Amino acid sequence: MQDKKVVTRFAPSPTGHFHLGGVRSALYNYLFAKQNKGAYILRSEDTDKERSKKEYEDGFLELFKWLELKPDQFFRQSERTEIYKKYLEKMIENDFAYISKEEVREEGQRSEVIRFKNPNKKITFNDIVLGDITFDTTDLKDFVIARSLTEPLYHLTVVVDDYEMKVTHVIRGQEHIANTPRQLLIQEAIGAERPLYAHMPLILGKDRAKLSKRDPEVIPALEYRDLGYLSEAIINFMALIGWNPGGEAEVFTLSELIEKFDLNKIQKSGGIFNSEKLDWLNKEHMKKLPAEEIKNKIFSFLPLEFQNDKLIPVIFERISKWSDVKIMLKAGELDCFSKFKQPEYDKAKLVYKNVTPDKISDNLKLAIKALEDVSEENFTTENVKISLMQIADSLQSRGELLHPVRYALSGKDKSPDPFIIAEILGKNETLSRLQKAL
Ligand code: GLU
Repeated sequence: MQDKKVVTRFAPSPTGHFHLGGVRSALYNYLFAKQNKGAYILRSEDTDKERSKKEYEDGFLELFKWLELKPDQFFRQSERTEIYKKYLEKMIENDFAYISKEEVREEGQRSEVIRFKNPNKKITFNDIVLGDITFDTTDLKDFVIARSLTEPLYHLTVVVDDYEMKVTHVIRGQEHIANTPRQLLIQEAIGAERPLYAHMPLILGKDRAKLSKRDPEVIPALEYRDLGYLSEAIINFMALIGWNPGGEAEVFTLSELIEKFDLNKIQKSGGIFNSEKLDWLNKEHMKKLPAEEIKNKIFSFLPLEFQNDKLIPVIFERISKWSDVKIMLKAGELDCFSKFKQPEYDKAKLVYKNVTPDKISDNLKLAIKALEDVSEENFTTENVKISLMQIADSLQSRGELLHPVRYALSGKDKSPDPFIIAEILGKNETLSRLQKAL
């Protein structure tokens, strides 16, 4: 095996929306192939004509393009019927398989299937993740491998393809362990060399239960793109479910993962899907983007009146994916920055703790006076801060001044600090809101 070129494959069936679990399978195959200067094959296993749909295949092709997991070769099983047919004929000829006429129960009709002649023996394979696994194949009986010569089923097609495509490593989910003994038997029948197997651990929810399609966490993978996650973050996140390089670092690019990935260190037990961690990783990858790109992306969600460079850091600090900008906007979190929307509020809330309303008025007057002295061109966050802090520091507590100013400007219980709001609103609007509060 050692001297052979490494060939891996990811073989999804286009029978439903593609989920992130599949991204991990694709990724591990990709990483392992790339770090060994080998080839990574993507194979659409679309032999089930009833359940396979073009839109699902288009979906994962688009997804992998977005994730930049480019396969070296792409195959579609529905285009390979002739190849499978040859193997089926040969297997029948050599007595490894036979055509079986069976009663179709409901209709009392007879139909034919092709069954594999089970040698009924113990078979052992060494799994890179799980170690030696032994099955008694007797339990499997003479299993069906095709409905007819031109309608092969999964176990046959997968074995023929892995053989024809010279796949050296089958890296796939643990749900396929039970399929492996059938596939080993077919390999032996057609004289195929056995690839190495690595079955990856399950992906679990935060409660350590297996993630099911009904979980709110389980959304089609492409929706993560539409929610404004970065492809780098999705890759980084999925790579770490079931494997990690050890040490403290957790933020990796695809090329770092190619370098660090270790097939021999995949864990046996289930990996946790933690969406808070995904958001955190996404933010870490966002921070690495050029400032110009961050700005353009955020602006693309903002109405013109909020497209102000000063707002970028305010917004960026509060989001972990691009679509959060939309949420902030909808929740009115940016309203305090709008010159056109004077805040409506409960004036009692201008008062800070036990300070008397008269004292609050005095403080607001001091603030107005101080800000009147800052010229319009110098009305920056920094200068507003310096002039307000001078007053605030002379009071018993800073909040006596900073709270009513912030509340007068924003009209909200929670908002960014008053200095940045003042700069974005500009001198006139700031003074007018303070006057109104007075
Ligand atoms: N087509 C199979 C599936 O989608 C995967 C086959 C394999 O990886 O061996 O579950």
